[in-house]
Order: sequence, then C-alpha cells, then structure tokens
Amino acid sequence: MKDISQQDLEKNIPLVSKKDPQREVKAGNVEFGKEKIVVIAGPCTIESRTQIMETARAVKEAGAVMLRGGAFKPLTFPYGDPLAQPDSDSGQSSVDRMKVLTKKEQVESAERRLSYLAEAGAKYGLPVVAEIMYASVVEMMEKYVDMFQVGYRHMFNMDLIDALSKTKKPLLLKRHYGESLRSFLGVAEHYEARNKHNFALVERGVSVPHTHNPESRAIIDIQAIPALKEFAPSVPVIVDPSHSTFKRLYVSSVARAAIAAGADGLLIDIHSKPEEAWVDPLQALNFEALTKLMKEIEGIAKVLGRSM
Ligand code: PEP
Ligand code: MN
Repeated sequence: MKDISQQDLEKNIPLVSKKDPQREVKAGNVEFGKEKIVVIAGPCTIESRTQIMETARAVKEAGAVMLRGGAFKPLTFPYGDPLAQPDSDSGQSSVDRMKVLTKKEQVESAERRLSYLAEAGAKYGLPVVAEIMYASVVEMMEKYVDMFQVGYRHMFNMDLIDALSKTKKPLLLKRHYGESLRSFLGVAEHYEARNKHNFALVERGVSVPHTHNPESRAIIDIQAIPALKEFAPSVPVIVDPSHSTFKRLYVSSVARAAIAAGADGLLIDIHSKPEEAWVDPLQALNFEALTKLMKEIEGIAKVLGRSM
C-alpha cells in the first residue's frame, strides 16, 4: 500500500488537498466540520414506523443532531434481507429469510421505510441520512433524505460517484476497511473533479490481524483522523465506532477517543432493545448509553474548544 506523496498532492489529489474556506457541508441545518461536534445516531435498519419514531425521540432527547436509518442494506450473504420482512409493528409474521427480493421489490420496501425516516426526522427537527446502493434511486431517495451515505462496499462505485456528484445533497463517504488513505482521498478527488464538494469522510475501521474479540471486524485507525486533517484540511471527518468495533462494550470508549483525536462527529447505531435489532445486534447502543456518551463527549469537546 502506498503512502501519500508530494507528487500525489500536486497531481492526483490537488483539489481535495487544497485548503478551501468556502467548503460548506450542511445537511438541513446541521453543519459539518465547524466548532460543533455532529453526532448522528439511529438504528442500523428501519424496522417500522413506530421504531424510528421512538428512536428519533431518543436521539433528540440525548442531544444528537441527526438521525440515521438503513433502508437499503448491503448484505454480505444473499439471505436475511430486512427489506423482505414486514414492518415490525404490522402484526404480520416474518417472511422466510431465504427470500431474495427483486430490485423493484427492494426499492418499494426501501421507499416505504425511508418515508418513515423522513417523517421521524421532520417531527423531531433532525436531518436524516440513509445509505444508497443504486445510482438509479438517487431521485427517489432525494425526496426523503437530507444526506446520502455511501457504505464501504461502494467506495469505488463509479455509477454512484457519477450520480451523487449531480445531487445538491451532502454525502457521508465511508472508507473501506482494506483501503489506504491514498485510495480514500482518490475517491474524494473523483467527487471534487466532478464539482461535488459537500461531503464528509467516515473512518470506520481498518482490517488488522487481531481485533481483541472473535466478532470484531476492524479497528478504528485513530491516526487517520489527524492524517485526513493534514491531507484534506477542509473536509469534515466523522468516525463510526459501531461498524468498526462491532461490539457494544467498545463503542463508547472508541467514540470518546475519536472526538479526543479531533473527529468532527460520530455515526452511531442505537436501538431500544439492542439485542433484538434486526441487523447488528452486537454493537447497537441503547438509548441510555447514547445519553451517557453524549455527556462524556461534551466534556471532551469543551477541553478542545469545541461544543455540541
Ligand atoms: C451502516 O452504516 O449501516 C453500514 C452498513 O455501514 P458500513 O458500510 O460501514 O458497513
Ligand atoms: Mn449497522
């Protein structure tokens, strides 16, 4: 893996590496990369209208400023697509987990869930973010989300890069666990070169030989935070301690460390009953844990001359 060279700065990533005081990354009324720390919290998956409503309320009460919720979920295996399941408040029994949806069925189900997310965000004054997987759904999703998330699996997806460069809405771009900062900034430069500047970069862990527990998949590259500030000085940096540690016990510690290291915000999975979450039950925090974490981060932010 190559490091970032002087030649890269001049020839390969000239736009993203430039200090750009004009850059504005704003989802609804939430501004990224300024003095205020941005905490985005919500369920891994939108399971029902009831669930996202109660979660939005908890996000607001904890003092977080944005709501996340997955509708399209990138699946490691073809089975267990949450989009195939009836809403958890529908009273219908669950569908065979081996059912594989057509893309049309996926889009219909995702749109219904995204409408719940938008409703919850509007009710509690929280801009919302959800992951996109297909370039063909940009227009549909734009009706519901204030920000698009691109998951690590789609980091290099040129169809998405092209389509998302045309939207005015901001982006949360995740770094693949196996990719260098050089490649990550290369992707950011692809957006820059297409005149798309309102994005934040998300560190969500890198692959290492050991992760301290059998389930954990990655370890947060804390050093990526100052390094991204060095090489892309105007781009906000968000850390996802949930999908990296993949273990509830580690999430808050790593979140605090990320803020201490200079991250501009956090992306956190929460659930009213984490162990019952449809997706990622091992790492979601409950509402109390989010509230506690918010208070701790506030203290760290203050020391650093920042606020919540
Ligand atoms: C997520 O944030 O829900 C998600 C699936 O993220 P990642 O792309 O980091 O796995
Ligand atoms: Mn998740």
